[in-house]
Amino acid sequence: MALLERARALRSEISAKLGDAATDASGSGRQGDYGDQAFASGESSLDLAEAGRDLQELRGIETVVSAIDDGRYGSCVDCGDQIALARLQAQPLAMRCTACQQRAERARGERPGSL
Ligand SMILES: [Zn+2]
Repeated sequence: MALLERARALRSEISAKLGDAATDASGSGRQGDYGDQAFASGESSLDLAEAGRDLQELRGIETVVSAIDDGRYGSCVDCGDQIALARLQAQPLAMRCTACQQRAERARGERPGSL
């Protein structure tokens, strides 16, 4: 399944980025002061930000995968109605029907249609 492959790719990306960040942090002390600590830490925070975005996507995929396992996939988490197939094809990570999604986005003060 494409989602599981994506989840696997995200996991390895995240661990690579977090691993890099951890190596940068410990490596700067081990290798002494070469004056590039600012650059190294800047790189690390960029990696961490990217890892954070990957992690968010991974969580969404894992939610969907567990919903598939439970047989809940395709049902709105709010009202329990079936989510339109066209919507699931366009947004595989959608967990709400269109009406509930718009209501949730209004509640969060976001523009509708992002998911
Ligand atoms: Zn709903």
